[in-house]
Amino acid sequence: MDDKIIEAVRLLKRSRFTTAFTGAGISVESGIPPFRGSGGLWGKYDPRVLDIQYFLADPAGSWGVIKEIFYDFFDTARPNIAHLTLARMEQEGLLGRTITQNIDNLHQEAGSQIVFEFHGNSKNLLCLHCHRRYVAGEISFDHIPPTCRECGGILKPDFVFFGESIPQLPMAAAYEAASLSDVFLIIGTTGEVMPANQIPVMAKEYGATIIEVNPEPSLYTKKITDIFLKGKAGEIMEKIGARLFSPSLDDDQDGVD
Ligand code: NAD
Repeated sequence: MDDKIIEAVRLLKRSRFTTAFTGAGISVESGIPPFRGSGGLWGKYDPRVLDIQYFLADPAGSWGVIKEIFYDFFDTARPNIAHLTLARMEQEGLLGRTITQNIDNLHQEAGSQIVFEFHGNSKNLLCLHCHRRYVAGEISFDHIPPTCRECGGILKPDFVFFGESIPQLPMAAAYEAASLSDVFLIIGTTGEVMPANQIPVMAKEYGATIIEVNPEPSLYTKKITDIFLKGKAGEIMEKIGARLFSPSLDDDQDGVD
């Protein structure tokens, strides 16, 4: 494993443009369960609560589960070492862009500034009637579904439900990142969610080297991954950061060149 970490660090140091592509797995060590895999939320809840048609037909029913998943869990979560390492990589010019499928705001809380949220952000709520936006913290969830203070319309979390389209800005930023990147660093995603799962495939087609961090193989591992770093995001990114940010551990001393 150490050889693989050393090789990954060597590639990251030499890359002219690196993109991080993150999924639910990067936030597991912050206490937020993923959807799939061991301990995944879909073992406990019905995924249809996040289907837009289902939500519109029964907003109170959907909100009961949505509140429990996204507004009870997420509020207490803090960035972990993997989020913090990516933020430092960005600050030190070693990371050009973070494309995240997550909706938990933890990359921004860690200090990352160039973040594109493919699926929106749970911190914002949108009135389905007058389109006024709210920050989740200003809304009371005592009454479900929560409603707009201005018009009484039903509020929906401003993230992308199944059956909704991806916002244009993150979509364009992700496609551009795929075409620009020498290294694409995939962390904690199964690769099952369309169309986000196509972004790393595009990056590979454009010639990027794919580094993947995950305790389990994903749909990418056999197909496009060049270096598979098997393990938890926090543990692996801590090791990467230790070598990446340490002037005393350069490529020559690692004996790679
Ligand atoms: P997923 O739930 O389908 O799969 C989670 C992945 O993370 C798996 O590959 C699993 O092996 C891996 N994983 C588990 N623990 C890990 C760890 N400690 N370190 C690294 N990897 C770990 O996740 P997905 O592919 O991102 O797709 C789910 C969709 O659900 C996303 O689009 C996202 O919007 C949403 N989601 C977001 C959050 C969040 O914002 N934190 C949480 C759950 C789901």
